[in-house]
Amino acid sequence: MRIKFWGVRGSVSCAYPDFLEFGGNTSCVELEIMGRTVILDAGTGMPWLGNDLLKRGVRDITILMSHFHNDHTGGLNYFKPIYIPGHTITIKAALNYGELTIEDLIRHHMTAELHPVQYEHLGSTMICQGFHVGEAFDLFDGDVQVKTFALNHPAGCTSYRIEAEGKVLVFATDTEHTPGAPNMGLVEHMRDADLVIYDTTYSEAELPSKAGWGHSTWNEGVKLCKMANAKRMAMFHYSPDYNDDTVRALVAEATAAWPGAFAAKEGMEITL
Ligand SMILES: [Zn+2]
Ligand SMILES: [Zn+2]
Repeated sequence: MRIKFWGVRGSVSCAYPDFLEFGGNTSCVELEIMGRTVILDAGTGMPWLGNDLLKRGVRDITILMSHFHNDHTGGLNYFKPIYIPGHTITIKAALNYGELTIEDLIRHHMTAELHPVQYEHLGSTMICQGFHVGEAFDLFDGDVQVKTFALNHPAGCTSYRIEAEGKVLVFATDTEHTPGAPNMGLVEHMRDADLVIYDTTYSEAELPSKAGWGHSTWNEGVKLCKMANAKRMAMFHYSPDYNDDTVRALVAEATAAWPGAFAAKEGMEITL
Protein backbone atom coordinates (compact mmCIF):
# COMPACT_ATOMS: atom_id res chain seq x y z
CA MET A 1 0.00 0.00 0.00
CA ARG A 2 1.53 3.26 -1.16
CA ILE A 3 0.34 6.43 0.55
CA LYS A 4 0.96 9.97 -0.67
CA PHE A 5 -0.11 13.13 1.12
CA TRP A 6 -1.40 15.81 -1.28
CA GLY A 7 -2.96 18.01 1.41
CA VAL A 8 -2.37 17.91 5.17
CA ARG A 9 -3.76 21.26 6.38
CA GLY A 10 -7.04 21.68 8.25
CA SER A 11 -9.83 24.22 7.89
CA VAL A 12 -8.48 26.42 5.09
CA SER A 13 -5.55 26.38 2.69
CA CYS A 14 -2.50 28.50 3.60
CA ALA A 15 -0.53 29.66 0.56
CA TYR A 16 2.24 31.50 2.41
CA PRO A 17 5.94 30.74 2.60
CA ASP A 18 5.93 30.08 6.35
CA PHE A 19 3.43 27.22 5.88
CA LEU A 20 5.18 25.33 3.12
CA GLU A 21 7.49 23.06 5.13
CA PHE A 22 4.42 21.03 6.16
CA GLY A 23 2.14 22.23 3.37
CA GLY A 24 -0.73 24.61 2.75
CA ASN A 25 -3.29 22.45 0.94
CA THR A 26 -6.20 20.86 2.77
CA SER A 27 -7.04 17.20 3.34
CA CYS A 28 -6.32 14.83 0.44
CA VAL A 29 -4.45 11.51 0.65
CA GLU A 30 -3.78 9.13 -2.24
CA LEU A 31 -3.61 5.37 -1.74
CA GLU A 32 -2.34 2.98 -4.35
CA ILE A 33 -3.32 -0.56 -3.47
CA MET A 34 -2.52 -3.41 -5.85
CA GLY A 35 -2.44 -0.93 -8.72
CA ARG A 36 -5.83 0.60 -7.81
CA THR A 37 -6.35 4.20 -6.76
CA VAL A 38 -8.28 5.23 -3.65
CA ILE A 39 -8.41 8.86 -2.50
CA LEU A 40 -9.20 9.93 1.04
CA ASP A 41 -10.95 13.32 0.97
CA ALA A 42 -11.19 15.94 -1.75
CA GLY A 43 -9.48 18.97 -0.19
CA THR A 44 -7.41 21.53 -2.06
CA GLY A 45 -4.53 19.11 -2.62
CA MET A 46 -6.76 17.15 -4.98
CA PRO A 47 -6.28 19.10 -8.26
CA TRP A 48 -2.56 18.30 -8.31
CA LEU A 49 -3.25 14.66 -7.58
CA GLY A 50 -5.67 14.78 -10.53
CA ASN A 51 -2.94 16.08 -12.83
CA ASP A 52 -0.64 13.31 -11.68
CA LEU A 53 -3.31 10.63 -12.25
CA LEU A 54 -3.90 11.96 -15.79
CA LYS A 55 -0.18 11.75 -16.50
CA ARG A 56 -0.15 8.14 -15.25
CA GLY A 57 -3.27 7.20 -17.24
CA VAL A 58 -5.32 6.20 -14.16
CA ARG A 59 -8.98 6.02 -15.19
CA ASP A 60 -10.73 4.22 -12.34
CA ILE A 61 -10.76 6.25 -9.13
CA THR A 62 -12.50 5.65 -5.80
CA ILE A 63 -12.92 8.54 -3.37
CA LEU A 64 -13.76 7.95 0.31
CA MET A 65 -15.06 11.15 1.90
CA SER A 66 -14.65 11.70 5.64
CA HIS A 67 -17.33 14.42 5.51
CA PHE A 68 -18.36 17.41 3.39
CA HIS A 69 -16.86 20.44 5.15
CA ASN A 70 -15.12 22.78 2.70
CA ASP A 71 -11.58 21.74 3.64
CA HIS A 72 -12.44 18.16 2.61
CA THR A 73 -14.28 18.98 -0.62
CA GLY A 74 -12.67 22.17 -1.95
CA GLY A 75 -10.51 20.43 -4.55
CA LEU A 76 -13.15 18.23 -6.18
CA ASN A 77 -14.39 20.78 -8.73
CA TYR A 78 -10.80 21.26 -9.95
CA PHE A 79 -9.99 17.55 -10.17
CA LYS A 80 -9.65 17.23 -13.95
CA PRO A 81 -10.52 13.50 -14.28
CA ILE A 82 -14.19 14.28 -13.45
CA TYR A 83 -14.45 16.21 -16.74
CA ILE A 84 -12.83 13.66 -19.03
CA PRO A 85 -14.76 10.85 -20.72
CA GLY A 86 -13.39 7.40 -20.07
CA HIS A 87 -12.87 8.04 -16.35
CA THR A 88 -15.01 6.41 -13.70
CA ILE A 89 -15.16 8.23 -10.38
CA THR A 90 -16.83 6.43 -7.48
CA ILE A 91 -17.52 8.62 -4.44
CA LYS A 92 -18.44 6.91 -1.19
CA ALA A 93 -19.54 8.70 1.98
CA ALA A 94 -21.72 8.21 5.01
CA LEU A 95 -25.40 9.15 4.87
CA ASN A 96 -25.18 11.66 7.72
CA TYR A 97 -27.38 14.39 6.23
CA GLY A 98 -31.02 13.41 6.67
CA GLU A 99 -32.73 12.84 3.33
CA LEU A 100 -29.77 14.06 1.26
CA THR A 101 -28.03 11.43 -0.85
CA ILE A 102 -24.32 11.57 -1.61
CA GLU A 103 -25.16 12.59 -5.18
CA ASP A 104 -27.25 15.49 -3.78
CA LEU A 105 -24.23 16.67 -1.78
CA ILE A 106 -21.86 16.49 -4.75
CA ARG A 107 -24.41 18.28 -6.96
CA HIS A 108 -24.60 21.06 -4.36
CA HIS A 109 -20.90 21.77 -4.85
CA MET A 110 -21.52 22.32 -8.56
CA THR A 111 -24.70 24.41 -8.62
CA ALA A 112 -24.58 27.41 -10.97
CA GLU A 113 -24.21 29.77 -8.00
CA LEU A 114 -21.01 28.01 -6.90
CA HIS A 115 -19.35 26.63 -10.02
CA PRO A 116 -19.50 27.13 -13.80
CA VAL A 117 -19.93 23.43 -14.66
CA GLN A 118 -22.85 21.43 -13.30
CA TYR A 119 -22.87 17.79 -12.29
CA GLU A 120 -24.92 16.66 -15.30
CA HIS A 121 -22.28 18.09 -17.64
CA LEU A 122 -19.27 16.27 -16.19
CA GLY A 123 -17.57 14.11 -18.80
CA SER A 124 -16.67 11.19 -16.57
CA THR A 125 -18.94 8.47 -15.24
CA MET A 126 -19.76 9.56 -11.70
CA ILE A 127 -21.02 6.97 -9.23
CA CYS A 128 -22.11 8.20 -5.78
CA GLN A 129 -22.69 5.62 -3.08
CA GLY A 130 -23.89 6.17 0.47
CA PHE A 131 -23.45 3.89 3.45
CA HIS A 132 -24.47 3.99 7.06
CA VAL A 133 -21.49 4.80 9.23
CA GLY A 134 -20.42 1.72 11.15
CA GLU A 135 -20.94 -0.51 8.11
CA ALA A 136 -18.06 -2.33 6.43
CA PHE A 137 -17.61 -2.87 2.70
CA ASP A 138 -15.16 -4.29 0.19
CA LEU A 139 -13.49 -2.59 -2.75
CA PHE A 140 -12.14 -4.20 -5.92
CA ASP A 141 -13.86 -7.59 -5.56
CA GLY A 142 -12.75 -8.04 -1.98
CA ASP A 143 -9.07 -7.17 -2.39
CA VAL A 144 -9.56 -4.25 0.02
CA GLN A 145 -11.68 -4.34 3.18
CA VAL A 146 -12.98 -1.08 4.60
CA LYS A 147 -14.47 -0.59 8.05
CA THR A 148 -16.12 2.70 9.01
CA PHE A 149 -16.45 4.41 12.37
CA ALA A 150 -18.35 7.54 13.42
CA LEU A 151 -16.11 10.33 14.71
CA ASN A 152 -17.20 13.14 17.02
CA HIS A 153 -17.44 16.16 14.71
CA PRO A 154 -20.11 18.75 13.86
CA ALA A 155 -22.57 17.18 11.34
CA GLY A 156 -20.66 13.88 11.57
CA CYS A 157 -17.44 12.50 10.14
CA THR A 158 -16.26 9.02 9.14
CA SER A 159 -13.02 7.28 9.97
CA TYR A 160 -11.91 4.58 7.53
CA ARG A 161 -9.93 1.49 8.44
CA ILE A 162 -8.50 0.11 5.22
CA GLU A 163 -7.08 -3.41 5.17
CA ALA A 164 -5.23 -4.80 2.17
CA GLU A 165 -2.29 -7.12 1.56
CA GLY A 166 -1.96 -7.73 5.29
CA LYS A 167 -1.54 -4.01 6.07
CA VAL A 168 -3.88 -1.69 7.96
CA LEU A 169 -4.28 2.05 7.50
CA VAL A 170 -6.67 4.13 9.62
CA PHE A 171 -7.72 7.60 8.49
CA ALA A 172 -9.12 9.44 11.51
CA THR A 173 -9.26 13.14 10.89
CA ASP A 174 -11.74 15.66 12.26
CA THR A 175 -12.52 14.13 15.62
CA GLU A 176 -12.98 15.81 18.97
CA HIS A 177 -12.01 13.85 22.04
CA THR A 178 -13.29 14.16 25.58
CA PRO A 179 -10.29 14.96 27.80
CA GLY A 180 -9.66 12.14 30.25
CA ALA A 181 -12.08 9.73 28.52
CA PRO A 182 -10.37 7.93 25.62
CA ASN A 183 -12.73 6.86 22.83
CA MET A 184 -12.58 3.08 23.29
CA GLY A 185 -14.58 2.47 20.12
CA LEU A 186 -11.96 4.38 18.17
CA VAL A 187 -9.19 2.45 19.93
CA GLU A 188 -10.73 -0.83 18.72
CA HIS A 189 -11.15 0.62 15.21
CA MET A 190 -7.41 1.49 15.27
CA ARG A 191 -6.36 -1.88 16.74
CA ASP A 192 -2.90 -3.05 15.48
CA ALA A 193 -2.89 -0.53 12.61
CA ASP A 194 0.37 -0.10 10.71
CA LEU A 195 -0.39 3.60 10.32
CA VAL A 196 -2.97 5.95 11.82
CA ILE A 197 -3.48 9.34 10.19
CA TYR A 198 -4.84 11.40 13.08
CA ASP A 199 -6.38 14.84 13.58
CA THR A 200 -3.71 16.86 15.39
CA THR A 201 -5.24 20.26 14.66
CA TYR A 202 -4.59 21.91 18.03
CA SER A 203 -2.14 22.02 20.90
CA GLU A 204 -3.32 20.92 24.34
CA ALA A 205 -3.01 24.55 25.44
CA GLU A 206 -5.40 25.78 22.75
CA LEU A 207 -7.88 22.92 22.82
CA PRO A 208 -10.06 24.19 25.72
CA SER A 209 -10.86 27.37 23.76
CA LYS A 210 -11.99 25.25 20.79
CA ALA A 211 -14.48 22.98 22.57
CA GLY A 212 -17.19 21.88 20.15
CA TRP A 213 -15.09 22.63 17.03
CA GLY A 214 -14.53 18.92 16.43
CA HIS A 215 -10.76 18.48 16.64
CA SER A 216 -8.02 16.79 18.64
CA THR A 217 -4.35 16.94 19.62
CA TRP A 218 -1.19 14.87 19.06
CA ASN A 219 -1.29 13.98 22.77
CA GLU A 220 -4.66 12.23 22.43
CA GLY A 221 -3.60 10.59 19.17
CA VAL A 222 -0.49 9.10 20.77
CA LYS A 223 -2.56 7.90 23.73
CA LEU A 224 -5.06 6.15 21.44
CA CYS A 225 -2.32 4.67 19.23
CA LYS A 226 -0.54 3.20 22.24
CA MET A 227 -3.80 1.74 23.60
CA ALA A 228 -4.57 0.30 20.15
CA ASN A 229 -1.04 -1.09 19.63
CA ALA A 230 -0.78 0.94 16.42
CA LYS A 231 2.73 1.13 14.97
CA ARG A 232 2.88 4.72 13.71
CA MET A 233 0.86 7.93 13.76
CA ALA A 234 0.95 10.63 11.09
CA MET A 235 0.06 14.05 12.50
CA PHE A 236 -2.47 15.65 10.14
CA HIS A 237 -4.97 18.53 9.67
CA TYR A 238 -2.77 21.24 11.19
CA SER A 239 -4.47 24.45 12.28
CA PRO A 240 -4.18 27.26 9.70
CA ASP A 241 -3.13 29.46 12.64
CA TYR A 242 -0.01 27.31 13.14
CA ASN A 243 2.87 28.19 10.84
CA ASP A 244 5.86 25.92 10.26
CA ASP A 245 7.62 27.03 13.46
CA THR A 246 4.57 26.15 15.55
CA VAL A 247 3.93 22.82 13.84
CA ARG A 248 7.64 21.91 14.04
CA ALA A 249 7.56 22.47 17.81
CA LEU A 250 4.46 20.27 18.19
CA VAL A 251 6.04 17.56 16.06
CA ALA A 252 9.20 17.65 18.22
CA GLU A 253 7.08 17.19 21.35
CA ALA A 254 5.12 14.33 19.80
CA THR A 255 8.13 12.40 18.51
CA ALA A 256 9.90 12.83 21.86
CA ALA A 257 6.81 11.42 23.60
CA TRP A 258 6.43 8.50 21.18
CA PRO A 259 8.86 7.55 18.41
CA GLY A 260 5.96 6.22 16.33
CA ALA A 261 4.67 9.77 15.79
CA PHE A 262 5.72 11.81 12.78
CA ALA A 263 4.48 14.75 10.75
CA ALA A 264 2.50 14.26 7.56
CA LYS A 265 3.85 16.70 4.97
CA GLU A 266 2.48 17.61 1.59
CA GLY A 267 4.27 15.48 -1.02
CA MET A 268 5.40 12.83 1.47
CA GLU A 269 5.11 9.20 0.35
CA ILE A 270 5.03 6.12 2.57
CA THR A 271 4.83 2.47 1.64
CA LEU A 272 3.33 0.03 4.12
ZN1 LIG B 1 -11.42 19.50 8.45
ZN1 LIG C 1 -14.81 19.19 9.45
